[in-house]
Order: sequence, then structure tokens, then C-alpha cells
Amino acid sequence: MIDVKALEKYLEKSGLSLDAAAIDKLDRYAGAVAEKNKVMNLTAITEPGEFTAKHIIDSLSLLTAAEVKPGAKVLDVGTGAGFPGMVLLIARPETELSLLDSTRKKLDFIRETALSLGLSPEIIHLRAEEAGKMPEYREKFDLVTARAVSNMRDLCEYCLPFVKVGGVFAAMKGANAEAELAEAETALRLLGGRISGIKSLEIEGAGERNIIIVEKISRTATKYPRPSAQIAKNPIK
Ligand code: SAM
Repeated sequence: MIDVKALEKYLEKSGLSLDAAAIDKLDRYAGAVAEKNKVMNLTAITEPGEFTAKHIIDSLSLLTAAEVKPGAKVLDVGTGAGFPGMVLLIARPETELSLLDSTRKKLDFIRETALSLGLSPEIIHLRAEEAGKMPEYREKFDLVTARAVSNMRDLCEYCLPFVKVGGVFAAMKGANAEAELAEAETALRLLGGRISGIKSLEIEGAGERNIIIVEKISRTATKYPRPSAQIAKNPIK
């Protein structure tokens, strides 16, 4: 269950538009997450108002920071219960959306629920560092996003290999974004990225949020991404 009034208030304020069918699907998606949450740990946030602010509105806010053209290939890395990816697909069903996570059970939940809503995202059950090496995923996406997956520096190594040259990586971050970004500057450059801006937002009920927009300006060297143990042990500095 979502707080429809709070969502409508946000839509009006942000200038985003969603039709009644999309709002209904968001509500049904939230209901499915709440139901599954009884038997599987999908989210600690269960109160409808908080769920609406921190999962639904926060996910939608990506649309205010990054352009998502019809037919664009979009990837959500470490999607978990489907945030922001499933919310984006419900809001913009004309995108070609892929959802990647290393946890099969979460992806099984998403696949089943998406189908019940008439949606069929591509589901990728792999670690980001593995998928990023594979020709079918490497440098194939117009927009790659991730929320609550890793620090910005390691996230660049996970995500930038998926982005086409000319495409965008949009990292959804909290209040600490500037500090994370400072630490990620070398990684960003080395992996073919360039900062194009940070969109700072204040979301009622979710606090300060920052969306870091990275343009992919050159191809990522084939040695990246490295295996996760190496990323952890020897981060790009
Ligand atoms: N993005 C969702 C959100 O904001 O609600 C989920 C966040 S959850 C804290 C992090 C998710 O990232 C988990 O589902 C985990 O399985 C996934 N994850 C972490 N590292 C990953 C990696 N290297 N490759 C693929 N998935 C990863």
C-alpha cells in the first residue's frame, strides 16, 4: 500500500507525470513487496508513508535527473526488491529495462510480480563484476543506475563497464555524496567517466538525496571490472 496523496503531491511539485494505471501498479507492487516481506527480508521499511517516500518517490526522482528516452536500454545494478528499477519500469514502460542482482530469490520475486503487472524486465542473476565482463552486457546500456549497493568508488567499477560511450551512470546517493565522489575521482576517470553534475534533492520523509550523473566519455579498459575480492582489497585510488 502506498500513500497516494503524498505521491500525487510529489508529482505535482516535481513536474513528473504518471497516469492512474501506473499509480495503481505502484500500489500493487508495494503490496506485493509487503506481502513477500513477511517470509523474506526485502526491506526494513514497511509503514506506507515511509515506503512511499523512501522507495517509490526516491526511485521516481531519478527521472528528474536523468533523461530516459522511449526505447532506452536501462540497467539497475543491485536492484534488490526492485528499487529504483521496477518503479522506473512502471513509470516508463516503454524503456528496455534490465535488473541485475546476485540474489536469486529477490529476482524470482521481481519476475513473478512484474509478470502479474503485465511487465517483463530482463532479469540478470549475476554479480556485477561478472556481468560487466560479458559481451552481451558490456557497454550496452544508455543508462545504468544503482542505489544502496556500494561506495561510489567501487560502484564506478561495477557500473561504468555496462555504460555505452555517450551513455550515463546515475548513482543514487544520500547526504554523503560529495565525500564519496571525492574518493571516486580517480576511478571515474580511469573507467571512462566524467562527472556531468549532481542533482541534490530534499524528499519529504526521505531527507537529503543526491543523484550523481556520470557521462561515459571513453571505453572502459578490458581489465575492469576486476573480481570483487580485488576491488575490495585494492580499490582504485
Ligand atoms: N537497490 C535496492 C534498494 O535501494 O532498495 C537494493 C539495495 S540492497 C542494500 C543491495 C543489493 O545489491 C542486494 O540485493 C545485493 O544482493 C546486491 N548486490 C550487492 N553487491 C552486488 C554485486 N557486486 N553484484 C550484484 N548485486 C549486488
